[in-house]
Amino acid sequence: MANRVIVTLACSDCKNRNYHFQRGKKSEKKLEIKKFCANCGKRTAHKETK
Ligand SMILES: [Zn+2]
Repeated sequence: MANRVIVTLACSDCKNRNYHFQRGKKSEKKLEIKKFCANCGKRTAHKETK
């Protein structure tokens, strides 16, 4: 069985946790992705959080 890590992406503006997905293994660096935030109503940087 592979280790599954649930990654949460939080908006860097409002800290809303908008996106969750599963990843096979931990990576060495944190993700930062531009995504649409419904709370802000615009695209913002989303950072990986725990
Ligand atoms: Zn936001």
